[in-house]
Amino acid sequence: MAIGDELVGGFTLDTNSHWMAERLRLLGYPTKRVTQVRDRPPEIIEQLRRELEDADVTDIFLSGGLGPTPDDRTFAALADALGKELVIWEETRARIERRVQRMHSMGLLESPEVTEGNLRMSRIPAEPAHVFRNRRGMAPGAIYETHGKRIFVLPGVPMELKGIFTEEIEPEFLTAGSAATVRELRFMFAVEARFYPLMRELEGTFPDISVGSYPNFETKELVIRVVGLDPKRVEEALDVIRRRAPK
Ligand code: AMP
Ligand code: MG
Repeated sequence: MAIGDELVGGFTLDTNSHWMAERLRLLGYPTKRVTQVRDRPPEIIEQLRRELEDADVTDIFLSGGLGPTPDDRTFAALADALGKELVIWEETRARIERRVQRMHSMGLLESPEVTEGNLRMSRIPAEPAHVFRNRRGMAPGAIYETHGKRIFVLPGVPMELKGIFTEEIEPEFLTAGSAATVRELRFMFAVEARFYPLMRELEGTFPDISVGSYPNFETKELVIRVVGLDPKRVEEALDVIRRRAPK
């Protein structure tokens, strides 16, 4: 779930969700849905409840709304949804303090004092399962566990999100997946609608495989993408398409 008025309002493209969906697929944690909501606690809570009640969902990723200004409200909403207090996380506060002092000594900040805005970022719902270090910024990011699921909370700044994801989440928390096999066939000038009967048939004979058709109007290619957990089955489906593709 990507959180931010700027995303839903069409100001900023939600590249975080796109990036995470690809990483998660490659790590064997396929994404069920991608959502974007505004910085409004009732709307964040509403979507979070939906994810928590969905039996197919095991991990929930939140991005954004952890900044120093009052328009960032993700942790407040999460505290509410989890029925937990917001607490100052001492380790994060100390890290922010060191960072402010370092930035001051480098001449990047006027004062070495931690401001209310800085402090705000160390206020997170109580009893996190894990708190990230975030080497690239102040907002911490954390994991909560509830309903047998993990909720990963990440800052919206793409560089910080990617850093935490690849350095802190992947090696420790996403090691149990096995990636699906993805194969593609490309047909020049193919008429997409003519693939209908074949694809309909494959739905019946290969229920374990997903077959998608993606026309590219610039290259004039039709991409048929075949995805499945068993590489042998993916190859079998691919063979059927190769043999029977409409000419
Ligand atoms: P935030 O953590 O909400 O304070 O976000 C900080 C900045 O990160 C915003 O000003 C956006 O420019 C950027 N950002 C937030 N969410 C996303 C997203 N889903 N995709 C790309 N950029 C984002
Ligand atoms: Mg924001």
